[in-house]
Amino acid sequence: MNYERTFNFSAGPAMMPEPVLEEIRDEMMNYRGSGMCVMEMSHRSKVFEEIRDNAEKDLRELMGIPDNYKVLFVQGGGTVQFAMVPMNLIGEGTACYVETGNWSKKAIAEAKKYGKVEVVASSKDKNYSYVPDCSDLAIPEDASYVYICENETINGTTFFDLPNTKGKILVSDQSSMFLSRPCDVSKYGLIWAGVQKNVGPAGMAVVIIREDLLKEDLPEYVPTYMSYKTHADKDSMYNTPNCWAIYCCGKVFRYLLDNGGLEAMAQRNEDKAKVLYDYLDQSELFKGTVVKEDRSLMNVPFSTGDADTDADVVAETKKAGFDNLKGHRSVGGLRASIYNAMPKEGVEALVAFLKDYEESHR
Ligand SMILES: *Cc1c(COP(=O)(O)O)cnc(C)c1O
Repeated sequence: MNYERTFNFSAGPAMMPEPVLEEIRDEMMNYRGSGMCVMEMSHRSKVFEEIRDNAEKDLRELMGIPDNYKVLFVQGGGTVQFAMVPMNLIGEGTACYVETGNWSKKAIAEAKKYGKVEVVASSKDKNYSYVPDCSDLAIPEDASYVYICENETINGTTFFDLPNTKGKILVSDQSSMFLSRPCDVSKYGLIWAGVQKNVGPAGMAVVIIREDLLKEDLPEYVPTYMSYKTHADKDSMYNTPNCWAIYCCGKVFRYLLDNGGLEAMAQRNEDKAKVLYDYLDQSELFKGTVVKEDRSLMNVPFSTGDADTDADVVAETKKAGFDNLKGHRSVGGLRASIYNAMPKEGVEALVAFLKDYEESHR
């Protein structure tokens, strides 16, 4: 059906799969005979409990989450996790951070409020345009965890190899790559993802945490809500959860399972990103800003090298029916976010547009 929807290249909130939106529409006024919309339901009702349970079950199947990991649905989006991770895990030790761009910088600044922090690697020297070699980091003996932002949404880099943490716990912010490719959960102590990038509506994070990291004896200052154990003990129902986000995310998990799972997603995402990168690699006007080996399949920053021309391109993309191609205000240029729900046709259409622009501005 044609809804006159635009190809929306937003970094988040971002596109969701159309069949999922249609299902949500169809269930809006009366969810499966319950006589109400999911927004109106008690979170303690049987019908909502089933929505929550199925969302978790489907996510576990999708990612192959081992039984000794808990899945939590926590409100507050990504930013709350910047604080929650150190509050729960830093203890008396040193938290080690890899600094690869805006989102890891924010995580570092927040962690410093709660304990000792060491930046063990950084790509700041080249404007965060690559991922530093993390095969032999100087991890201190007392490290409480090693933290990465696995896909830097703003800078456009991705870790294709996980750091060698020398036996310490790996914590990863997967917000803008969550469910974009298979993931071996057993390699991590904790994975978290704000869901508005690659999954559903804003305002919630999924946290996947190894059970032995759920601590009883947190510092006095940690609010009840900010303890992972609070959420784990109550199946993410300690208080009223973000019912709507859980429902919508559950639909996306189901949709991904029905469409080949994460292997299929990875294949599609590689094909899709290749269309754009192949064009950028040979363009004389536009250049990608990240080194080839580390570039993200989800967020593609690029530029003409001239701020006025970049602004003109953004304005023209809007007229041509695309949206949200302006780069983040902290880096400028353009950025195309091409998450799971962006169809390949969207990327092909964008490339056709950029080609035309380039031809007519020689
Ligand atoms: C968007 C984003 C965040 C912050 O998420 P909010 O829900 O806006 O707080 C954190 N990390 C990454 C990698 C992101 O892309």
